[in-house]
Amino acid sequence: MSKELFAVFGNPIGHSKSPLLHNALFRELCIDACYTRYLLEDGEALKSRFFSLGLSGANVTVPFKENAFEACDERDYYAQNIGAVNTIKLKEGKLYGYNTDAPGFMASLDGFRPKSALLLGAGGTARAIAYALRAEGIEPIVANRGEARLSFFKERGFCSVTFANLKSFDFELVINSTSAGLESDSLPCDKELLHSALGGAKLAYDCIYKETPFLKEAHSCRVETKSGLDMLIWQAFFAFEIFSGKKLDQKMVEVMKYAAY
Ligand code: NDP
Repeated sequence: MSKELFAVFGNPIGHSKSPLLHNALFRELCIDACYTRYLLEDGEALKSRFFSLGLSGANVTVPFKENAFEACDERDYYAQNIGAVNTIKLKEGKLYGYNTDAPGFMASLDGFRPKSALLLGAGGTARAIAYALRAEGIEPIVANRGEARLSFFKERGFCSVTFANLKSFDFELVINSTSAGLESDSLPCDKELLHSALGGAKLAYDCIYKETPFLKEAHSCRVETKSGLDMLIWQAFFAFEIFSGKKLDQKMVEVMKYAAY
């Protein structure tokens, strides 16, 4: 049998750690496969590129997760609800789509199950996290800068407000799922609001996988912090289970972490 090929599609894609994570596991488990990155210019071309490259599976990152959703023939529970796919597996000529950001986020909490959660941001990542929390019986409050993206959450029964209308501040978990702090030193919302939200928090969680202004503020409020690196690792762990069709030993998380640092 010939070597299987996997890829991550995105734009930009040069920064992606996915090849490091997946190739580390292929080596560790002696699987004859290879994982690469692919810079996609046009999301509409995702499906044809998947087949022309001869891929067995793929991950999809910003900004093509919705194109990936459209490209698939079948979708799992999370993908269906979120409207976005980050993992594609080819089976008997059909494309199966999954969203592993949602279980990846939950697994990254290391068993912490907050009684209340504030989710800052209303983009694709917020959708995944909102459904992941709901599956655990935790209904987050979704707060966003603008009104437009909140309609997705309102239509699905999530309590959602703009920052200006956020009035309650009793949260055990505060998550930044905005892209504020990714390439600038901006906070997701104004400092005063953030301090009120962090007041009683047990954990401040940033989906971005570096030390952000949000996490620095949380430190200054003496709140425990977590970056998005574990979420990245766990979404890759679940994607690898889908690609390989194998249940992975949790020790493989350490192999991925070692490769990512
Ligand atoms: P989207 O583009 O779908 O959504 C962006 C969100 O950020 C919107 O709610 C937008 O608000 C908000 N936003 C952008 N800039 C600002 C700002 N300056 N101040 C306040 N709010 C802002 O992005 P995604 O949901 O796909 O990704 C969000 C973040 O999550 C990214 O930083 C990404 O890197 C990270 N991520 C991490 C993963 C991991 O595995 N660790 C996985 C996936 C994503 P508005 O609607 O008002 O414009």
